[in-house]
Amino acid sequence: MTSLEDLPLRSDLRGLTPYGAPQLHVPVTLNVNENTHTIPEPVALDIVSNLARALLTINRYPDREFSELRDRLAGYLGHGLTRENIWAANGSNEVLQHILQAFGGPGRSLLGFVPTYSMYSILAAGTGTRWIAADRDADFELTPATAADWVTKTQPDIVFLCSPNNPTGTPLSLETIEAVYAASSGIVVVDEAYAEFGARGTPSALSLLPGRERLLVSRTMSKAFAFAGARVGYLAADPAVTDALRLVRLPYHLSALTQAAANAALAHSAEMLAMVDDIRDQRDRLVTELTRLGYAPHRSGSNFVLFGGVENPRATFDALLADGVLIRDVGIPGHLRVSAGTEAETSAFLDALARLEPPVGPVPTNAIESIN
Ligand SMILES: *Cc1c(COP(=O)(O)O)cnc(C)c1O
Repeated sequence: MTSLEDLPLRSDLRGLTPYGAPQLHVPVTLNVNENTHTIPEPVALDIVSNLARALLTINRYPDREFSELRDRLAGYLGHGLTRENIWAANGSNEVLQHILQAFGGPGRSLLGFVPTYSMYSILAAGTGTRWIAADRDADFELTPATAADWVTKTQPDIVFLCSPNNPTGTPLSLETIEAVYAASSGIVVVDEAYAEFGARGTPSALSLLPGRERLLVSRTMSKAFAFAGARVGYLAADPAVTDALRLVRLPYHLSALTQAAANAALAHSAEMLAMVDDIRDQRDRLVTELTRLGYAPHRSGSNFVLFGGVENPRATFDALLADGVLIRDVGIPGHLRVSAGTEAETSAFLDALARLEPPVGPVPTNAIESIN
């Protein structure tokens, strides 16, 4: 067998590692921010009948313009959006790839604020786009001034803003998005993969779209919609942007089965989103209980929590895994990330963590005296 080194691989891909969250079969899987609730059975049955209908014409290519799906996504998003504003693909990962294919590429750059979603730099590499890693403020926050300064300083062709940010959970203010847009002359993408989990009344970047033709807001059905396995992501933007993305997509990129499944699911969006309140409660419970256990959780507007105060993340990760609980080591020193699961899964995680050695926090002065 040949090795990677023996192949005439593109030189800019040599030495890179692929995206690789572990896919392990353990009782409690809280590592990739999935919605761990299954979809309601009546909705599943409706999806099955729509799939059956689609199969009757599967000998033909699917609707290349996925018109019904775009209508339904526009209806779901509201904000006066119509079919012309909507783009969709096999997961928002593919939507983001289309953006880089159309607006990035060799000689162009993509700015992101790290730590952020690991796929951004991987997609940049795959499309030959230069990745610029900018810093955040304390506690992973991102103020309008910090963000705009980086844009002014680096003049990127594209900016990816993750709102709320993965893996930190940090919500992003509309003021920061406006400041980045004003400082930039390129494409500004707001990745709202977790938007539905935000605190009630949290405004979406969709409200900023009118008059901002370089602003793109991406969403996914993978998280709140409990549809990760179906692979449906989408974005809203000026119709000229969706025209640009048509230049780079593969013809018929959304299969007839994907479209049929998503259309049926969107016809039941209220039922599909019924567990979001529950997940939010479990997220808030994680923050409270992690604090009680002596860890330092960060504020989160998503369905996961990043927590600090972990003396040895690898050891804690391994110990939890041995106890049947899979979470995520995102490579931030002293931190681990956990998704909010069902009440039972969240309890299993918290109980397993409580059984471990307590975290080593700052040692109180009187304790030091008593050691002496
Ligand atoms: C999970 C996630 C996505 C969604 O990816 P899909 O391809 O739609 O499953 C996008 N962006 C971020 C930041 C994510 O965490």
